[in-house]
Amino acid sequence: MLDASLRAVALATTGFMPVDEGDALYTAAMLAGAACPGLPMVEIGSYCGRSTVWFGAAARACNSVLHAVDHHVGSEENQPGWEWHDASLVDPSTGHINTLPHFEQTMQAAGLTQSVLAVVGNSPEIAASWKEPIAMCFIDGGHGREVARNDYLSWTPHIALGGILAIHDVFTDPALGGQAPFEEIYLPAVASGKFVDVSATGSLRVLKRV
Ligand code: SAH
Ligand code: MG
Repeated sequence: MLDASLRAVALATTGFMPVDEGDALYTAAMLAGAACPGLPMVEIGSYCGRSTVWFGAAARACNSVLHAVDHHVGSEENQPGWEWHDASLVDPSTGHINTLPHFEQTMQAAGLTQSVLAVVGNSPEIAASWKEPIAMCFIDGGHGREVARNDYLSWTPHIALGGILAIHDVFTDPALGGQAPFEEIYLPAVASGKFVDVSATGSLRVLKRV
């Protein structure tokens, strides 16, 4: 479990990770670290670092490192006029969203700067030049269909046997949320025969690479 002081940092951080799902993410990362000792972990979509506190703390506990991938300019749904826009994240000097300073502040407050490496850029491009197998990939990036499909296609081949794929915002019922993480990531992962269900907590699905 995440210790109390880190939990307080996570709860004070802007973002979209509910507590029970953060705890499930932590548990999944501990599993991945035990199954694939020494391999790094990857988060797609860190925003202000809320989920990253749980995930980074687990990576550290496993003597692993977490690469936190985000271009930090926000997803489509974070832009002005969209449902998930937060005007306080706009950099007044550019007029655009920039979550990187908030992310860095969160990692500093959590004392995780040695274990979490910010990788600032476009997810599929970073995946394309990625070389080493990973113990776990947590996908919580853009929720457009093409973005979700690209994250699935570009990152899942890097997950080592026995490793973990975690997916956020998986809704089987369209009334509860967008379908892209479910239809473009979860379903193809299961259909590939390479991933089996481990757990489901809220909208967080955890699968194992077999
Ligand atoms: N995990 C976060 C929420 C992530 S929100 C939390 O716990 O609060 C989704 C994030 O994905 C945004 O910060 C956005 O900038 C990032 N993102 C969306 N598309 C991306 C892409 N193609 N490459 C890199 N990051 C992307
Ligand atoms: Mg999410």
